[in-house]
Amino acid sequence: MAPLGEGSDDPVLPDLPRGPLHAARARASFPWKELALFWEGPDMLRFKKNIFSALENDPLFAHPPGSLSLEKYRELNFLRCKRVFEYDFLRVEDLLGNPLRVLALIQCLGMYDWSLATKFFLHTLTFGSAIYSSGSERHFKYLPKIFNMEIFGCFALTEVSHGSNTKAMRTTAHYDPTTEELIIHSPDFEAAKFWVGNLGKTATHAVVFAQLYTPGGQCHGLHPFVVQIRDPKTLLPMPGVMVGDIGRKLGQNGLDNGFAMFHKVRIPRQDLLNRSGDITPEGTYVTHVKDARQHFSESLGSLSSGRVAIAGMSVVNLKLAVSIALRFSATRRQFGPTDEEEVPVLEYPMQQWRLLPYLAAAYALDHFSKSLFLDLVELQQGLLGKDRSARQAELGREIHALASAGKPLASWTAQRGIQECREACGGHGYLAMNRLGDLRDDNDPNCTYEGDNNVLLQQTSNYLLGLLVRRDQDGARIESPLKTVDFLEAYPNLLGHGFEASSPEDCLDSSESERKHVVCQLQEVSAVPAVPLPRSLELWTQELCCAPAIRKHARAASSVFPVGALISARSNKVKTFSGAKNANKIHLTKGAWHPTLTVGSPQPAVRLQGIRS
Ligand SMILES: Cc1cc2nc3c(=O)[nH]c(=O)nc-3n(C[C@H](O)[C@H](O)[C@H](O)COP(=O)(O)OP(=O)(O)OC[C@H]3O[C@@H](n4cnc5c(N)ncnc54)[C@H](O)[C@@H]3O)c2cc1C
Repeated sequence: MAPLGEGSDDPVLPDLPRGPLHAARARASFPWKELALFWEGPDMLRFKKNIFSALENDPLFAHPPGSLSLEKYRELNFLRCKRVFEYDFLRVEDLLGNPLRVLALIQCLGMYDWSLATKFFLHTLTFGSAIYSSGSERHFKYLPKIFNMEIFGCFALTEVSHGSNTKAMRTTAHYDPTTEELIIHSPDFEAAKFWVGNLGKTATHAVVFAQLYTPGGQCHGLHPFVVQIRDPKTLLPMPGVMVGDIGRKLGQNGLDNGFAMFHKVRIPRQDLLNRSGDITPEGTYVTHVKDARQHFSESLGSLSSGRVAIAGMSVVNLKLAVSIALRFSATRRQFGPTDEEEVPVLEYPMQQWRLLPYLAAAYALDHFSKSLFLDLVELQQGLLGKDRSARQAELGREIHALASAGKPLASWTAQRGIQECREACGGHGYLAMNRLGDLRDDNDPNCTYEGDNNVLLQQTSNYLLGLLVRRDQDGARIESPLKTVDFLEAYPNLLGHGFEASSPEDCLDSSESERKHVVCQLQEVSAVPAVPLPRSLELWTQELCCAPAIRKHARAASSVFPVGALISARSNKVKTFSGAKNANKIHLTKGAWHPTLTVGSPQPAVRLQGIRS
């Protein structure tokens, strides 16, 4: 068999059909197949192709003509989700070999329809991994049932009255030692679980977060419990559970978001997910966790994986939108030197300035989300191996801070990128069949679920300010396992340096020090309680998330390697993509806000654009 990428009949990377885009593609300065192989690797390309082929050839996934009713769409989405399980794309042994396949599967499903991807994701990753990572051996009985869809799950944290303030959730779980049961109860309508994906029509089980009370009335804080919602055979609600669909949303309407109220629903004591705390049969609360703060973060630890995945999902939306807009722009002709000879709008620098930064951002964020996902896998392996080392604890804090900043960065970049792409396609961008409206609507909740972006950024700022406090109070060095904050050790000395650059190449390094300088400056003002934080939070976000990913390859990009250096996402090492036919045509570079991919442009390679205002 010929290696991937060779020959026009390669089933994974076949030649593209000749069409209106042929002329633009023929002018490319690099072989696209080599770039695809370099970026993804042959195994991942085959894996994705396998998924796409299965969906393409299965009539269940054919897009029906016209719009579907809400009921029909949700029903179809469930059937499709079931079929995805039947295809068995993810085998455990494959997962261990390449955990990025989980992310890739969700992303491929999302490229097809985000309602399907989120349905699958909530059941397997959010519900399944909440049980796996917050529970213990006694809960592993649920795992095979999840993977053969004997049960169908959801993650029920948010209530009508509270989302961001998770500590304030009001659902209760009182322990009754006489029957060794927990009594799950919603005190009133405001404590009803709300917004929960899969709960509307299909969930049979939920991981429900509730305040745990032991006999005598002592509250031990928020804990997760497995609660049966419906009978898996009839889908009728269990006694004491009032459950329903919350109705039409702005997007992702194939997904049944729902509400639930519990009226003294009894569950076995064993269905408390007990990684951070447990109850003895007599009703004594036991925990290895030292303080309430650590307990709280352990209880909600499963949220980090959702945030990392959402960063990757946002990147997919950006990729889709940018592909649509660039292809359109390469063929759409307006004006020209003569009336007969009009120019593709992509030739106009303004169109390039609008779209190419988002193309570059898609590459940088794609790498960032994959490498953060692999860091998360390392963290979870440590948790499962019961690693209680200081490094493991620090890694958990750093990943939490990165995920809390990375989700906002990726979802907001996608949100703005999709809108720019929509406008870059003119009127045709507004036609529903061109999908930019769906992408905009389906990406939008990425800014809200698993933590509102604005609120999440405050968690990252807490982490950063905490490092300063530890240094000032205990003399601790500022360093972290992934080294994303080590530069802050130079604070406040960094503030003494100005920004100096005499060439675009200088800018590549200098803008990095400039960014560090700005972050330190903001750290300084943020330490004063009266000064508001939001702008500093945004900058930290960019520094923490974008910079580490971009820094690794941007430094090597531009002049050193004529084609730019790209990172192998899997090895997390800088690699050079040297397949260009024509040197100096592509530089992967960075800017103060987001990276810029310049294509044969006479403009300086670096764009020193200010912070997002
Ligand atoms: C499509 C969708 C699917 C969802 N799926 C699920 C699910 O499966 N399971 C689940 O449990 N939940 C789910 N949610 C709920 C989601 O997690 C919450 O909506 C989210 O956490 C935000 O909480 P909230 O809606 O209560 O907003 P609020 O917390 O009420 O926030 C409202 C506004 O106040 C601001 N704000 C809040 N606190 C502060 C503060 N301290 N400082 C400054 N500003 C602040 C926020 O930035 C926001 O702009 C889903 C939501 C959506 C939209």
